[in-house]
This record gives sequence, C-alpha cells and structure tokens, in this order.
Amino acid sequence: MGKADLHIHTTASDGHISPSDAISSAISHKLDIIAITDHDTINGYLEAEKIARNKDEIELIPGIEVTSDFNGRECHLLAYCFEPKHYAIKKMVHVHRQSRLKRGEWIIKQLAKKGFELDIKEVKAEARGGNIGRPHIAAVLQDKGYVASYKEAFVRHLSDQQLGDIYNEYYSHTKVIETVKGAGGAVVIAHPGRLYSNKELERLVAAGVDGIEVIHPSHSYDIQKNMEDFAESHHLLKMGGSDFHGSNKNYQKHFGIVTINTRNVSHLRRMTEQRKINLNNVTSKY
Ligand code: AMP
Ligand code: MN
Ligand code: MN
Ligand code: MN
Repeated sequence: MGKADLHIHTTASDGHISPSDAISSAISHKLDIIAITDHDTINGYLEAEKIARNKDEIELIPGIEVTSDFNGRECHLLAYCFEPKHYAIKKMVHVHRQSRLKRGEWIIKQLAKKGFELDIKEVKAEARGGNIGRPHIAAVLQDKGYVASYKEAFVRHLSDQQLGDIYNEYYSHTKVIETVKGAGGAVVIAHPGRLYSNKELERLVAAGVDGIEVIHPSHSYDIQKNMEDFAESHHLLKMGGSDFHGSNKNYQKHFGIVTINTRNVSHLRRMTEQRKINLNNVTSKY
C-alpha cells in the first residue's frame, strides 16, 4: 500500500514552492499519489502535470481548493478528478480569480481605516501572477513595517474575527458542488476541524459533498476520530493531506508524513470514473 497527499499548495496561489518543485519534493518524500490543490486555480496543477506525466514514480490527480460561500461564511471545498478542460471549471476559476482580486481591494480598504497604506499593485507583485490571498497581504504588511511578523498580521489584522464578513463574490457551496460534479469530479470538505457544527456538516452532506478531510495537520486525534466516524456513518470518502505551503509558515514538517493510504484514492477514482462516462463535448463552450 502506498502513500498519498491530496492537499498541496504552490506558487499558483499562496504556496512558496513551484509546481515542478512540488513534484520533485513529493518524489523525494516517497509519496505515490499527490494532488496540487491551489486556492481557486488549477494553473499549478496544469504546470505540474506536464512534468508528472513523464515520471513513473509519482501520480498526479487533478485538484483544487475552491473557496465557496456557505451562507455568508467562506467554506473551503477540495475538488478532485474533475475534467480540467471542462468549460464550467474554466468559468469557475475565472470568476474566483476576479473575486479574489476584488476581495483583496476590499481588505486593503479595511486596513486603510487603521492607517495602513497598501496598494493592490504591491499585493499583486507579492503574488507574482498567482491568485491573491491574505498571505500576500500579510507579507506586504510585514515588508512595510506595519507588523513585525506574518503571524502578527493574521492575528491582529487579517483573521476572520478581525475582518468580519469579508466581501466576496465566490460561488455558493451548492454551485461549487454542482460545477465540480458536472465536470466529473468529487467534492471534499477541507480541514473541518472545529470549523463546523455537526448540523453544518450534515447540511454540506445534504448539498452533495462526497467526502471529508479526515487527516489534516490541524486535527487533534479526537477530531480525526470524530471525522472518521462521521465519514463512515454518512458513507463519505475519507480524504486527507498535509496542506503543505512550501515554507516554514504552514505545515512544512508535515509534508511526507501527514498522508493517507492510496486505497482511499482508489475509492475516489472509482466514484469519479462513473461520473466521467457521460461527459462529452465539454471543452468548447468557454
Ligand atoms: P485567503 O485564501 O485569502 O482566505 O487566505 C487564507 C490562507 O491564509 C489559508 O489558506 C492559509 O494559507 C493562510 N492562513 C489562514 N489563517 C492563518 C493564520 N492564522 N496564520 C497564518 N496563515 C493563515
Ligand atoms: Mn493557503
Ligand atoms: Mn483551506
Ligand atoms: Mn489548503
């Protein structure tokens, strides 16, 4: 039985490792299957796929971590094994990239009220073409001396508690689920941890999610056990990964260690192969 990590970020979003380095690093950590799951983009996956297709040691499956609007709250949904060329996926990533930009501008306005002068151009430069996220804003705040550390930027200015309801134009959770399944993929609730009550998890299941991240570095043993029980009682895929961001900021030490058994990926594959049977002529419309 092999090891899989289905939660990895690259420079296409807020990761610090290039897609090609993610592949070589995964090989050196003896991972058998990985998914690159950047925030609201598949650009990292597409770049890594060109390299992974020539490597026998590793398999790369299509992945993305989509930010959805779950009744006014942002909810991270992982999606796997969808058809990357599907027009509805292309449309979703386009809408979400724009949403991230506008959301970044909104956050800058909130920070201006505290006397911090940031320009969206500085945030874009920090993101180097990747999708904009709060980590890039945190880095600019630190560069400009407004905070002493990345951590301080989050704790004092960028956390959900500090910002309140963050303006966004993301798809609703139901629309994300419909889009991904329509493109032959599966949807998994990311790092549920203490984020959701059981009732909220039930609501996500009723909306059609296929799986839940049981294994995640933020999960205590008790949470992991609860999520495993929840997955079993609701017949959900048991997924997981390291949420590696390629630096010491997020889960560096968990890469290659926080993994799932490749058997779980076989279940995911079986489910999505069924969904892809009826997909045809899906690439032309967008
Ligand atoms: P965004 O995608 O703009 O909502 O930013 C969320 C990202 O910021 C997450 O994916 C993490 O990479 C990072 N993040 C969230 N909360 C924290 C925190 N408290 N400290 C450090 N990084 C965080
Ligand atoms: Mn992130
Ligand atoms: Mn997340
Ligand atoms: Mn993540």
